[in-house]
Amino acid sequence: MSDQYEQYEAVVVGAGPGGAAAAAKLADEGIETLVLERGVKAGAKNVSGGLLYAEDSAPYAIDNLYPQIRTEATERPITEYTIQNVAGSTVKEYDLTRLHEHDTRWSDAVLRRKMDSWLAERVHERTRETGGGLLNGIKVNGLLREDGEIVGVTCDEIDPIRAEFIVAADGVNSELARDAGLMNWDEPEQWFQGVKATVEAPNVNDRFDIGPQEGVAHLFSGDLFDGVRGGGFCYTNVDTLSIGAVFHLDSLVESAAEPHELLNALLEHPVCSQWIDDPYREVEYAAKLVPDSKKVAHPDPQSDRLVLVGDAAGQMQAQGPIIKGMNHAVTAGALAGEAFAAAKRRGEPSSAGERYVERLYESGTMAKLRPKRYERLRPIAERERTTEVVDRLLESPIGRFGVRALDATGLLERLYSSPFMSMSIPDTQTPYVTLPTVIAETLGETVSDDTVVDPPSLEQRIGELTYDTDIGNPHIELLDNSVEASGAAVTACPVSASEFGGGCYREETIASNGTTKNVVSLDTQPCIECGTCAVVADTAWEHPSGGRGIEFRQG
Ligand SMILES: Cc1cc2nc3c(=O)[nH]c(=O)nc-3n(C[C@H](O)[C@H](O)[C@H](O)COP(=O)(O)OP(=O)(O)OC[C@H]3O[C@@H](n4cnc5c(N)ncnc54)[C@H](O)[C@@H]3O)c2cc1C
Ligand code: SF4
Repeated sequence: MSDQYEQYEAVVVGAGPGGAAAAAKLADEGIETLVLERGVKAGAKNVSGGLLYAEDSAPYAIDNLYPQIRTEATERPITEYTIQNVAGSTVKEYDLTRLHEHDTRWSDAVLRRKMDSWLAERVHERTRETGGGLLNGIKVNGLLREDGEIVGVTCDEIDPIRAEFIVAADGVNSELARDAGLMNWDEPEQWFQGVKATVEAPNVNDRFDIGPQEGVAHLFSGDLFDGVRGGGFCYTNVDTLSIGAVFHLDSLVESAAEPHELLNALLEHPVCSQWIDDPYREVEYAAKLVPDSKKVAHPDPQSDRLVLVGDAAGQMQAQGPIIKGMNHAVTAGALAGEAFAAAKRRGEPSSAGERYVERLYESGTMAKLRPKRYERLRPIAERERTTEVVDRLLESPIGRFGVRALDATGLLERLYSSPFMSMSIPDTQTPYVTLPTVIAETLGETVSDDTVVDPPSLEQRIGELTYDTDIGNPHIELLDNSVEASGAAVTACPVSASEFGGGCYREETIASNGTTKNVVSLDTQPCIECGTCAVVADTAWEHPSGGRGIEFRQG
């Protein structure tokens, strides 16, 4: 039975940073490795902010595995890092470069299409030498089992593949993690949604007063986002800006906020528009779900021959303003490859999963993903009553006096820059909205700018995207079309909106038996595969088949 299928020593699913790292390590150890990527090109499905970090303390960073990456595939080193606390039109800036540089060997801005396609070429060159290679346009749709044991993967486009070792680096909403029963997080509070515009900026050096080997990251928090917990960012690329925001999904859903409107609020605010060229030219609109590692990083991301790495294992760390997903995916991918090679040398390939998990702990990676400090503080710091009391105090004259006093001594800026503090930040209104708003109201200066940013409508944004749609074979099925079960998707889906009929989700009134009722309908054609409705609506959610669906050009 099994002989009829092609067999490799290792199969890696997904050619994002996690998959590329796993493939490099496996190939360097001479292990016959096949990499399967569903995008028509690697990067075509991927979105990041994105600052790629190489941490001092990590056992692997991307340039250990691909030494040329910084000269050939990243945008710019980020040398200046600030947070802009915003209240109305007043802004107070703090320099967070110290926090950004903590445990950082280097950090570059990247665009995923460019970086992932470059990585994919290197992956193919290296894995081909082992007898494997990289195949694009192949969607892995599940696990191959024999006698109940995971022994390979099944695909939409090709026959099943057997392997001694399977690396699921298939990102957020991993089909393999779900099939293995290892994805056990489906509450909105366990996820973030990131939404982003890539914006033309041919004069980026002049506008930011930087040289070609310098770059800036500005972060934004305060009252910009209608009270939704989250933060904005503006990163300098070679000749574009990545401008976006990352929101706690539960907060987005509770306030029925429209992600594209929140993004527009940032783009149009002078604190951001001062960096944008006039006229505004948006190159790409994108969005994606990411997991919150401090709640969901899987403590034991392996089963039989399968290991999960990166977002598939919930390994996306958002600690305070710093977002680190790509670097952890790289570390985990390389650790997985290393573990299989070591297990194979010992003649016990089946122990690779356990060894991989041991290495995640020994290397300190799990301690970063699930900081103990946060877990200890959470029961008190995230109580509603605590937030109410702290927020009321901060907004009182005493609180404002305290903010002024702490700022005068420089302590407030130092606290913002403290890695210790950033690991302890609770998921409440206080750090995302109340504190930055009070800081800006108390200490801020009015910011003004003449640039008028006129962002495209949702319809225009969708119209500019490239799709090879799945007409006749929708990749998401709405299981319950009641507003109660699935209505949240109408606003939370980044290409839908309550007053917009052209997106994926809409609310409609239907008449039957002389009565009317409101239901939700779904059209998957404009779907950008962010994954949000897998969590906030009642759906049977799958990725489209290989090469189908959205094709991001920037990411
Ligand atoms: C707006 C936003 C801002 C972010 N900012 C940052 C940042 O500044 N810094 C940072 O480090 N991280 C950031 N992240 C998070 C980061 O992008 C992810 O953590 C990271 O991409 C995870 O890497 P990965 O390799 O695990 O998965 P991915 O990068 O998602 O790669 C998964 C790959 O698997 C492929 N795939 C998926 N399913 C299948 C299948 N069934 N068959 C075959 N192939 C499949 C996909 O096409 C994709 O190529 C941000 C994310 C967002 C959305
Ligand atoms: S339909 Fe679902 S997966 Fe597609 S863009 Fe909307 S929320 Fe995201």
